[in-house]
Amino acid sequence: MDSKHLFTTALSFSKGKTLKNRLLMAPMTTCSGFHDGSVPQDLVEYYGKRAQGLGAVIVECCFIEPLGPAFPGALGIDNDKKIPGLARIATAIKQQGALAILQIYHGGRMVEPELIGGKTPVAPSAVAAAREGATVPRALEAQEIDALITKFGDAVNRAIKAGFDGVEIHGANTYLIQQFFSPHSNRRDDQWGGDREKRSRFPLAVLDIAHQMANRAEAEDFIIGYRFSPEEMEKPGITFEDSLYLLEKLAERGLDYVHFSLGHWSRSSIIDLKDPTPLITRYRQAIAAHSPLAQVPVIGVGGIVNQLDVEQAFTAGYDLLAVGKACIVYPDWWQRLNAGETLSLEMSSTEREALCIPEPLWHFSLVDAMIRDVQSVGKKFKAGVYHEKVEAEALKLNIDVQLDTDRITDIRLQPDSCLDVDFTETFEQLRTRMLVANSPYVDAIAGATTQSEALKKAVSRALSTSTKHWAEDSGVDPASLENYDVIVIGSGGAGLAAAINAHDLGARVVIVERMPTIGGNTIKASVGMNAAETRYQQAKGIIDSKARFYEETLKGGKFKNNPDLLQQFVERAPDAIDWLAKQQIVLSDITITGGMSIDRTHRPADRSAVGGFLISGLVKNLNQRNIEVLLDTKAEEIAYQNGKVTGLTVVDEYGESRLLQAKAIIVATGGFSANTKMVEHYRPELTGFVTTNHKGATGSGITLLQHLGAATVDMAEIQIHPTVEQKSAYLISESIRGGGAILVSQAGERFCNEMETRDKVSAQIIALPEKSAWIVFDEQVRAQNKAADEYLAKGLVVQGKDVADLAQQTGMDAATLSNTLATFNQGVAQQQDPQFGRTTALRHPLENAPFYAIKIAPGVHHTMGGVTISTQAQVLDAKHQPLAGIWAAGEVVGGIHGANRIGGNAVADIIIFGLLAGEQAANWVKRG
Ligand code: ADP
Repeated sequence: MDSKHLFTTALSFSKGKTLKNRLLMAPMTTCSGFHDGSVPQDLVEYYGKRAQGLGAVIVECCFIEPLGPAFPGALGIDNDKKIPGLARIATAIKQQGALAILQIYHGGRMVEPELIGGKTPVAPSAVAAAREGATVPRALEAQEIDALITKFGDAVNRAIKAGFDGVEIHGANTYLIQQFFSPHSNRRDDQWGGDREKRSRFPLAVLDIAHQMANRAEAEDFIIGYRFSPEEMEKPGITFEDSLYLLEKLAERGLDYVHFSLGHWSRSSIIDLKDPTPLITRYRQAIAAHSPLAQVPVIGVGGIVNQLDVEQAFTAGYDLLAVGKACIVYPDWWQRLNAGETLSLEMSSTEREALCIPEPLWHFSLVDAMIRDVQSVGKKFKAGVYHEKVEAEALKLNIDVQLDTDRITDIRLQPDSCLDVDFTETFEQLRTRMLVANSPYVDAIAGATTQSEALKKAVSRALSTSTKHWAEDSGVDPASLENYDVIVIGSGGAGLAAAINAHDLGARVVIVERMPTIGGNTIKASVGMNAAETRYQQAKGIIDSKARFYEETLKGGKFKNNPDLLQQFVERAPDAIDWLAKQQIVLSDITITGGMSIDRTHRPADRSAVGGFLISGLVKNLNQRNIEVLLDTKAEEIAYQNGKVTGLTVVDEYGESRLLQAKAIIVATGGFSANTKMVEHYRPELTGFVTTNHKGATGSGITLLQHLGAATVDMAEIQIHPTVEQKSAYLISESIRGGGAILVSQAGERFCNEMETRDKVSAQIIALPEKSAWIVFDEQVRAQNKAADEYLAKGLVVQGKDVADLAQQTGMDAATLSNTLATFNQGVAQQQDPQFGRTTALRHPLENAPFYAIKIAPGVHHTMGGVTISTQAQVLDAKHQPLAGIWAAGEVVGGIHGANRIGGNAVADIIIFGLLAGEQAANWVKRG
């Protein structure tokens, strides 16, 4: 059967009910019941929403009597009062056209006394579960067993009354029914215990009474399924053969389906680890074609997320598939898959309500674990514990990184590590992030960046050591592991976008980054990404045009921009915005920057700085795809022979040089603002200026390419940013001025149109006697710009309770400052600025206390010049000929911005040309 048809092909049970397709929602504990196990309203919505499109929903297990709940927040079906609540769930599911099935259980010895009012849990025998601290249960009396069977019958009766189409008898997960069948937990010597036949009696009795109840209620088509755990780790324990024996017996008495309980549908034996055969294969092989069990549909579960999973699981031999975590993350999972979407199991922390997930489930480890599952595919490690040193400033400690063959399973501090409390918290948070992402490349903890980076580096070192060990053990040549289609140099926005796009087009990609962290200078970008004619502009009713965007960028660049590159830039911008949205990086809020006439600077909905948002979003995408990143690894030389790329020589963190093999290279090394010598060489008058850039912005990519004959353009076009806090070299985002702030001299007066281009505003500041100025704003501006809070937190802001207070603290004349504000505010009211001709960002009067000021002066910010490229991002030589197999994108490239870069255009540039370079390089590799 074609897997696509599984979305629509029905399955009819022998007694009459029909599933409209082969996909079900798996029973999953939500821990969301009230204290007595009754149903809260949000759970009704949770199930109703998720039933869309599916054949059936199997509702989480309900305990059948008060001693049965195995976890807090369990649902109950232990008395008639529970019927109306459960009926609401059944109705909500059936309204969507899906069948509603309810799982029934008793926890037995898995119940903790505190969940049942301090009573001793019951079980077939007084044998505790094989885990530390497990309570020794009380052995059930024979008559209590009879009573329990009746209670299972009552539960079935209630499920029928509540309107369910069926029940699933929960004979798995080491709960009571399984405990009766298990030789570990059942040591009885009466009719309920002993050999396998006797141990089968309780599950069979529960099935019998379920049938009786259905018959009595004249619900002949009532579905009765059985869930089982195929094996037990305990010794003695249930073997797979034992399970088949029990299932055969159950099937003889009539069963509508059997439901494997496994973490993954393809799971092989948990006892015989040497046998890799999936249990479903063994199941199909073991069952004789004529046996009643062979006629019973089988449900598989675990790891069903995308079309391919569905396809493979059906091919493996399941008739029906239960979808778990994917249904939590995507309530409309069926529709999305049916429409051909590819999904990843990720949720953003803001989505709980929109996804209708009850609060307790949100905090359940299941939600964390789901993220790990998908991301573990791909990398090969030698399982074991790797010891690493973490060193950062005063911090020196040792960690153990525990790896399985395909994932990080734990990160522990070694016991002798001497720690302060601050780091323990950072460690715990980072550890969780890394385990969830199954990657060391996670966001650093704010306020502990250096320590975070040191820890990330140690974990990444452990991974690469273990990959080397894996290669040695498997007889794989380590050099062959470093044979790529495309090497991307630089992990800023351009490099990451290029790498993801090249990967998605089928290339084997690695990113080489000289710094110990990902993100380059992009991570510092504050204001946003410019684009015209986007869907977000449309949604806000902003009428913009690409032509206007082109003209304004050209004017801002003093008509020095390369017209072809600029055309490409403007043309592709809205697609780049859409591409980001597809990768869950949504820039839906819009503001304006200097030099633009309209709101076209796209930024995150919460108005936070774009750089961190962008990089962490791109890094998530890297992790999902397992794209390799080599940190602390500097690109030294491109191996280029006879017009052909063969690889890249790099120097790694241990100072060792080696050749990575590759067919294509993308240079995305950023600009050279942090290379003082280079800046001074091209612009001597900038000697002594601070830079806003990170240390890695040294222009090394330009040099690398020049060696191969690449031409450069506009190298002397270096932008100084007007508003840089001088002590920290921290850039004060244009979004503050765009949000309504003004610039004021030490004399307390405005002196320019703050919304002019960066070069003009910088020149006006330098022309002031003090060569610096104050950026002044009020509470309204602060409230609407998250970046402002960051500046406050960093201690860069002077705060006054009123204008006079601000003036006093900044050493300005109070009357002058007050007049300045009054005049500006009058202008805002009339939407004009007769003094300096400001026409944009006259948002609101600056009148809401408290008032704020940050002292700023210009700093070296962006290098517009760089290597020359074609409109397809190929690096060009002096004769405008492409260097075959080499592309460049981002700030390393010259020509797009001309003599001055407009705020918001750098982020647009890196994404647009990064994507283009990635696409071109991948296609080139494909063409061979
Ligand atoms: P863009 O904005 O163009 O993406 P960024 O400055 O954000 O540029 O990122 C460029 C990245 O390239 C930085 O992280 C920088 O450390 C890295 N880089 C620069 N030169 C080299 C090099 N020779 N080898 C490896 N990485 C480099």
